[in-house]
Amino acid sequence: MQPDQIIALRRRFHAHAEPGFLEYRTASVILAELAERGVRATTGADAIDVGRIALPPTQAEKDEWGRRAVEAGAAPDDVAYFQEHGTAVIAELDGNRDGPTWGLRVDIDALPVDEETDAGHAPVAGGFRSTTPFMHACGHDGHAAIGLALADRLRDRDFPGRVRIMFQPAEEGVRGAQPMIDAGVTRGVDRMLAVHLGGDLPTGTVVGGVTDAMATTKWTARFEGEAAHAAAAPEKGRHALAAAAQATLAILGLTRFAAADTRVNVGTFHADGSANIIPALATITYETRSTSNEVLEDLNRRAEAAVQGAAQMYGVTAATKVYGRAAVSQPDEALLTDVARAADGVPAISTFTPKGASGGGSDDAHLLIRDVQEAGGLGTYIFVGAANPAPHHHRRFDIDEDALVIAVDLLERLFRG
Ligand SMILES: [Zn+2]
Ligand SMILES: [Zn+2]
Repeated sequence: MQPDQIIALRRRFHAHAEPGFLEYRTASVILAELAERGVRATTGADAIDVGRIALPPTQAEKDEWGRRAVEAGAAPDDVAYFQEHGTAVIAELDGNRDGPTWGLRVDIDALPVDEETDAGHAPVAGGFRSTTPFMHACGHDGHAAIGLALADRLRDRDFPGRVRIMFQPAEEGVRGAQPMIDAGVTRGVDRMLAVHLGGDLPTGTVVGGVTDAMATTKWTARFEGEAAHAAAAPEKGRHALAAAAQATLAILGLTRFAAADTRVNVGTFHADGSANIIPALATITYETRSTSNEVLEDLNRRAEAAVQGAAQMYGVTAATKVYGRAAVSQPDEALLTDVARAADGVPAISTFTPKGASGGGSDDAHLLIRDVQEAGGLGTYIFVGAANPAPHHHRRFDIDEDALVIAVDLLERLFRG
């Protein structure tokens, strides 16, 4: 696939940005492009276990994004399929000789960001600004295009082993990788890669393995008490809102750790009731993060104690639930040597750093990488600089499209060995 075709695909995805697990039009384009090239695609239960999705989209959201996808030209049958079986798509390519099985994760979801309307923003000037309330403000439009370009180039089967390109929904909120692991997508994978564009790095810079990602867990906590008249019988009520408030402050006040960086945040707080009623129901969502998987577990235990302790104070019950998670993984040296060699053969890569920082974000691709590493395989998370003019998740975020070709050239060389 030539550079202008890769760019055209990226722009097609950019113009129709979709939320996690609702990437109906995106997935239908991916499926159609693979079919057109005769590339085998795995979807449905073999790609994602939809029963394991915590906080799946509501029926109203499915209907709305289904309608938008069809209006954007997606086949109604495809949309109905994705609504029922999930939006993960895996391209399977077999080489013509023995070799390792590679996995490559490319994510496909967008963010609830209202994209810039000023003509100075390249997607506006180029006529491919998002037509939905969502925006590809993290470069996943580029990732989807990179995945398709690789599937196209490797159609000649002139490479050793196998390549499994995993188009993953719902990376934002780190919700999509775990249900794909539950469906068995990492089974048999010897070398697991993830690729991300941007990272505030100039075009031509590539980091072979990111070392500063953060493990994270996203939680909901639901407090259930008992309603009562706030004046006539306040002592008969059990105050769910007060418990949730106490838990919020306790979580925000959790200890720091000497061994690793941590973050905590409580992001939403909802309670029912009215001023003259003791509120019976309250929910909060919160997240924990750490540069260490072990510290994260400890932090999660302490957050749970904060929730349950607060619940106990007010005689209410509390139930917590995980709705997203990511781990940290470290790149394998043996694989970095291969990546460095491949990078050497791409003239547009001016600066190759074997290991480096990416700004401490979280990405559930590390769950896929760790899963393969724990089974004895290798893995690394590659960053490809794209001269983004604004930070990730910003309404003026954009990528230098030359970086798409750099990423495709690099990965193609790596797979061809
Ligand atoms: Zn992001
Ligand atoms: Zn991202």
